Amino acid sequence: MSQPVPPEKRQPKCAQCRKNPVSAEYRPFCSKRCADVDLGKWLNEGYAIPGPPVEDDEDSPRPGDAGDMSAED
Ligand SMILES: [Zn+2]
Repeated sequence: MSQPVPPEKRQPKCAQCRKNPVSAEYRPFCSKRCADVDLGKWLNEGYAIPGPPVEDDEDSPRPGDAGDMSAED
């Protein structure tokens, strides 16, 4: 089942820069450069972990600095 290819009345724009017409070789981009840019963007987003940053608990007692409370007896 193949969809009919619409006549190219209008040339699709590059998915990256949206300025240049898409090249058949680098679809959906206009050039290898734009394809690389988009790929790099995907990789960066893929490696970045979404979510709130983990804050260090500054109230956590440090070892060796909490001898005050237990020594009071
Ligand atoms: Zn482009």
